[in-house]
Amino acid sequence: MLSGRIIKGIGGFYYVETERGIYECKARGLFRKHNTIPLVGDKVLIRVNEEDETGYIEKIMDRSSQLTRPPVANITQAIIVMSVKEPDINFWLLDRFLVMVEYEKLDTIICINKIDLAKDEELEFINIYSKAGYSTIMASAKTGDGIEELREKLKNNITVFAGPSGVGKSSLLNKIDKRLGLKTGEISKKTTRGKHTTRHVELIDIGFNSYVLDTPGFSSLDLSFVEEEVQLGSYFREIDKYSYKCKFSGCLHYKEPGCEVKKQMELGNIDKVRYKNYISFLEEIRNTRRY
Ligand code: GDP
Ligand code: ZN
Repeated sequence: MLSGRIIKGIGGFYYVETERGIYECKARGLFRKHNTIPLVGDKVLIRVNEEDETGYIEKIMDRSSQLTRPPVANITQAIIVMSVKEPDINFWLLDRFLVMVEYEKLDTIICINKIDLAKDEELEFINIYSKAGYSTIMASAKTGDGIEELREKLKNNITVFAGPSGVGKSSLLNKIDKRLGLKTGEISKKTTRGKHTTRHVELIDIGFNSYVLDTPGFSSLDLSFVEEEVQLGSYFREIDKYSYKCKFSGCLHYKEPGCEVKKQMELGNIDKVRYKNYISFLEEIRNTRRY
């Protein structure tokens, strides 16, 4: 048997990368019976049919993590990419991504691309996020800024590379690994539904034992995974940090008296935009639960 990693799955076929190349594999019915479906990212053992060079997945190794959307196993970290201009940074979406990765308990890096288009003072917002406890990288696929730092972070990891289209994810990856040649550029006007809608979950091998998941699924996040309103605060690191001092346990930091989070916001220790997004997500969760 041969060991490998599933890098792509389409229509019941799994593409398993091994030291001998990529094999198109099927899964044994066995997995369905045990309610486990192989996922992209899984380490597997396959049996190769020498005649036609296809294979069967015989065993799925234990997973270190499992995301539901996109469905992928063994992700170790997330890099959330936004551009400072063209398109402007979308704080609402950034905070939504952060809620998602906090929920999934992934190591997280915020990467701000296209810094060649901005003045230094336009980048100051990033302090809000580093103060909240996030690693940040300022980059430019154009000038090469931050590329070495990104490459280092990617090493020996399986990384979700998330962010809206047009922020430069493909450009950054091309810069990190010159062999990739990923397509870049604006979405064509004709296909307004976006280039992402037809793609499937796929791991890109970028060498040095590293994979990247360039993900379509993250661009249309809904928050239905948050089961209780009261959990939301724990997915905002700086809100979580102060919430134990709120007068009421289970405080939603909404209109309750004696709320430490609102106090810290007034003092400038919690950013107003972050708080505003928190409230908007809270209201969204509340409204979708009401039936
Ligand atoms: P993706 O949709 O996130 O993969 O974004 P692309 O990599 O396709 O890039 C979208 C557009 O932004 C392309 O026209 C790129 O040439 C441009 N772009 C990417 N990175 C940079 C950068 O660092 N600076 C500037 N000025 N333009 C960039
Ligand atoms: Zn509170």
